[in-house]
Amino acid sequence: MSKTIAINAGSSSLKWQLYNMPEEQVLAAGLIERIGLKDSVSTVKFDGRKEEQVLDIKDHVQAVKILLDDLIRFEIIAAYDEITGVGHRVVAGGEIFKESVLIEGDVLAQIEELSALAPLHNPANAAGIRAFKELLPEITSVAVFDTAFHTTMNDYTYLYPIPRKYYTEHQVRKYGAHGTSHQYVASEAAKLLGKPLDQVKLITAHIGNGVSITANYHGESKDTSMGFTPLAGPMMGTRSGDIDPAIIPYLIEHDPELTDAAAVINVLNKQSGLAGVSGISSDMRDILAGVENGDADAIVAYKMFVDRIQKYIGQYFAVLNGADALVFTAGIGENAVALRRDVIAGLSWFGMEIDPEKNVFGYTGDITTVDSKVKVLVIPTDEELVIARDVERLKK
Ligand code: ADP
Repeated sequence: MSKTIAINAGSSSLKWQLYNMPEEQVLAAGLIERIGLKDSVSTVKFDGRKEEQVLDIKDHVQAVKILLDDLIRFEIIAAYDEITGVGHRVVAGGEIFKESVLIEGDVLAQIEELSALAPLHNPANAAGIRAFKELLPEITSVAVFDTAFHTTMNDYTYLYPIPRKYYTEHQVRKYGAHGTSHQYVASEAAKLLGKPLDQVKLITAHIGNGVSITANYHGESKDTSMGFTPLAGPMMGTRSGDIDPAIIPYLIEHDPELTDAAAVINVLNKQSGLAGVSGISSDMRDILAGVENGDADAIVAYKMFVDRIQKYIGQYFAVLNGADALVFTAGIGENAVALRRDVIAGLSWFGMEIDPEKNVFGYTGDITTVDSKVKVLVIPTDEELVIARDVERLKK
């Protein structure tokens, strides 16, 4: 038995989950927030307990140190060396990383070089990797890429219809994201359908703060809604999703607060989507409460959100020439019963019919009627488990 930790490092946060492997038993999970700021918060959950401490954590190395000390303090482990493997989520793997890899040789340097493709994420992911290398240099260290699952897309799908040199000279293409989540729910969906993964066609909809939808043909990603960066696709919590790119220079010209393209992209990433349209919140629960109360801005934001998701699902029925099932996952997909009902209500022509007795909070699995030609499945995602499994698989 060995202990493996799955790490998702953000610029000021570090999310982790500790497993006994290969049993896949979760021993503890936690989150460190506000790294580098005053009053950082470290939360540890284990044995039904939740412990929180507020302290100043200056960088990722210190965050990892605190996390390891907490594991000992709460007697989750007796010594550091019980942890034999660590898996790091890395957002951009570019065209180099088509699958998870052991972090050795020049892998870390390559991850840092790929920062141009994910400037908010890869440097933070690299900081997490470096922190573990410093504190636990002997353990198996694996990088799991959000983009790897999508490297099976065809060239006519991942290329943009722009001059070819931008791809050949500057690597501008669709990379996608949320790959571990799409991969996990697709394999769970095949099990639920009772068919081999290589015989099913699936549309997987990861709908959380970030939203991405994938067309999965026989287990492989054939198209996905996120693009060169995670800004593309349907509308999201704070991200616009797809818009006409001509809006960018137009806004620079007309809004004195927006001086350059980076400023507009910042608005599109952080002040748009549900938050920007509703003026209320990026959180679907707040939007649904606004809809209940008849708030006009919440209603239009909600209708836009549903509309953009429906259109991507429609597109992917075309990409796959039909599908066996649609999968809902992530915070909104797993929990927002009304959203699932409303999305499917407008897609009944495709052969999906929701059973209202199954489309209820807390129910997972098939939520359609027995006659529904295409199944609709609710499957909780588990990206950390995919990471822990990859560490186990690649261990020497
Ligand atoms: P992230 O992409 O940050 O991992 P999550 O997958 O946790 O995000 O999804 C967060 C979203 O899930 C938020 O918009 C939140 O409102 C929504 N959500 C969580 N629980 C519910 C619920 N019970 N009903 C509706 N929406 C929910």
